[in-house]
Amino acid sequence: MESEDVKHWADQLKEKIIKEREEKERYVFNCGMSISGMMHIGNLRGELLIPSSIAKIFESTEKKVDFKGVYYTQDRFKARDGQVQNFENPEDAKKYKGWRLIDVPDPKDCHENWVEHFNSKNDPFLSKFGIEVDPITTTEFYRMEETKSLVKGFLKERNRVRKILNQYRERNPYPEGWIPFDPLCKKCRRIDSTESIDLDFKEERVKYKCNSCGSEGWSSIENGKLAWRLEWSALWEILEVDFEPFGKDHATPGGSRDSCVKLSKEFGLNYPSGFPFNWVYWKKDGNIKEMTSSGNVGMTAEDFLEIAEPEVLNYLYISTKPMKEIYFNPLELPTYTRRFDRAEAVYFDEKEARTEKRGMNMKRNYELAVKEVPDKKPLRVPYGTCAFVAQLAEKEDRLLELTKKTGQIPDTVSGKDKGAILNRIKRAGKWIKKFNPEQHVIKVQENVLDVKDRLSEEQKEVLRKLREDLEEKQWKPDELQNRIYQFKEEYGISAGEVFQAVYLAVLGKKSGPRAGQLIKAVGQDKVVKILNGI
Ligand SMILES: [Zn+2]
Ligand SMILES: [Zn+2]
Repeated sequence: MESEDVKHWADQLKEKIIKEREEKERYVFNCGMSISGMMHIGNLRGELLIPSSIAKIFESTEKKVDFKGVYYTQDRFKARDGQVQNFENPEDAKKYKGWRLIDVPDPKDCHENWVEHFNSKNDPFLSKFGIEVDPITTTEFYRMEETKSLVKGFLKERNRVRKILNQYRERNPYPEGWIPFDPLCKKCRRIDSTESIDLDFKEERVKYKCNSCGSEGWSSIENGKLAWRLEWSALWEILEVDFEPFGKDHATPGGSRDSCVKLSKEFGLNYPSGFPFNWVYWKKDGNIKEMTSSGNVGMTAEDFLEIAEPEVLNYLYISTKPMKEIYFNPLELPTYTRRFDRAEAVYFDEKEARTEKRGMNMKRNYELAVKEVPDKKPLRVPYGTCAFVAQLAEKEDRLLELTKKTGQIPDTVSGKDKGAILNRIKRAGKWIKKFNPEQHVIKVQENVLDVKDRLSEEQKEVLRKLREDLEEKQWKPDELQNRIYQFKEEYGISAGEVFQAVYLAVLGKKSGPRAGQLIKAVGQDKVVKILNGI
């Protein structure tokens, strides 16, 4: 029998949603994203992939899920350093401070505005990750008739709203007469410096006083925005949201999720089933930072696809419980890819997991990570091997030939596998160029003379013997690997010293890819030539 413990978190979440929202034919999922700058792959986790994988489970049981993505485009531009640096003249860009994001121009001048510019690096690539989301901006949302009447309802009942929200704001309560709306200043275009001073429900407008430019005027409801907590409640109600995961910052007791639920309950409005998730941090050069749009930290979906397959990121995210932090390190791509490959092999029963429970979990992660489970297991070449092959040749035929020499693929490969393998090699090649991972960058030496002084007498002996062995016959990569390993017994030095000798001779550094594969890919003849001076 399947115990609760074995059940995947995504399956558990699906059950929670059904329990809280009842069985129905169609569900609405929602996620919210601020377009405060670069759309990074951190957003792909909680906001997009978590709901999308649960939608997939629902859809496998003939249910329909409409997955909506709300972009908070009425939010203010904060003019943070990371944001203004996108512009040619950062100092000048500070003049957009307090504007709605939708009004800020494209910093590179290639799209309609700021929002479209950054979305262009994200939206078109989501389907590659198997994510189908129906976007709506809050700018569009405030133009909807239903929204306007709900906004009016909240504003009419503002005293009640204030009392509910103040239960969560003991230290800093909203004052009497507070109008929970941010109007847009017509004169200076700021939305963050206006104070609502009067209401006109008939004309659907709010009177303001602008603390930045000093002007007074009327802002239509659709140009402004509700205070955040009311805005979230309004989105849940109007979009009829059944499920929306939220970042851990909203999850604290008495935080925005709690107070929005309370507000919705009091007003008899819809509120969704929810679930908190943790962030993806960016780990590079020994530093750990939160991936942020406004700080320009992280990598876009477009950039990720340049260097790795979408399933690899999906697998990393799906195989980690939602409330656990992820420290994404671009240098770890070989590891992330290996984990995905391994789960795939377990899924197709080519490899066995350490325990049955673990195996079941890996299989479920795999099913949810791939866009579609293939009929048969694709042929995979380890990312690390791809990375070094990519540095030895450019032409496709030659790349495949070298991969064969490493012993990672058979002599005949189907067209589909060939394409996928070449893609991985090309991606790994770009990864090498972009991130310059010291351990993986190789430069084949011309001769051994340059490193001769760095080798011990025993190591030199080993290399002489290796040269003889290579001259004698053509080796298979694994056989050669084992042969090199045996030198440690024959010459009484450690395996580490043996392999170091090989790497120093061939690559001029102390580490490298599997020696057997390396020598085969570089070519036995070429290695013999390098070793001639020993
Ligand atoms: Zn642009
Ligand atoms: Zn103003």
